[in-house]
Amino acid sequence: MNFQQQLAVVEGLGVPPDTQMRMDCPFCQNKNTFTVTTTSNSIGWYCFHASCSAKGKKNGEKTMDYVNVTFKKEDIKPQEEFKLPDSFKIVHSNNKALQYLHENNCWEACMWGRADIKYDVKQDRVVFLVKNPDTNKYAGAIGRGLSSKVYPKWYMYGNKDIPFKCGECKDAVIVEDCASACAVSNILTGIAIMGTSLKESHKKYLEPYETLYVALDRDATKKSYSIASELTSAGFKNIKVKVLHEYDLKCYSTPEIKEMFYGKE
Ligand SMILES: [Zn+2]
Repeated sequence: MNFQQQLAVVEGLGVPPDTQMRMDCPFCQNKNTFTVTTTSNSIGWYCFHASCSAKGKKNGEKTMDYVNVTFKKEDIKPQEEFKLPDSFKIVHSNNKALQYLHENNCWEACMWGRADIKYDVKQDRVVFLVKNPDTNKYAGAIGRGLSSKVYPKWYMYGNKDIPFKCGECKDAVIVEDCASACAVSNILTGIAIMGTSLKESHKKYLEPYETLYVALDRDATKKSYSIASELTSAGFKNIKVKVLHEYDLKCYSTPEIKEMFYGKE
């Protein structure tokens, strides 16, 4: 991939300005080998994996604000409605999408209507629609690529400030991705922050819960603790970290999730 193509992928990740982020590499798919660093007018990226050549930096014009240049393109105000593209089809129209939902314990959430899930025929992604809880209208969507040829693995359409929520339970759990949020949603409200960093804009969507667990994927336990302490400092009094020893939450069935959080009956 040339510089421009890499830049397009990295910009598509929607990393806010003045942020340093570590994540799975969107180019070689290796776990947690990719860093993105942004300032108010530059974006740099680098993959630590030996076999991967992803690397680059773009400096914005000093007089132009990076936020305006890079993020305004898709900037949708929180109240604005996201119009579903024509390429979003019913999820049943694609076997790989259905298979993904079954393999990642999302099928039940989809069937019971707790999650609105589509298939994007243009990008070959299974797409989880994000609703704005204030307006109850679509605000954006989050798509998971269905083959290794689809970059980046996760793509955010429309508004990037509202987390994906699945379920209406009294306790909630902060997870990394939409599949995990769906997998827990029979037992707890799943809230996906799409990565291991909490955005300032996410906090107001975390308020109405009795207990708020943080359970990022098992390779990000340290980040779970740092999010927990960030929320506690922000005034939340109901935060608990759930350490995952074996697998990510999307690998567990409803009875297993129930036992994990509330013990055996
Ligand atoms: Zn890489």
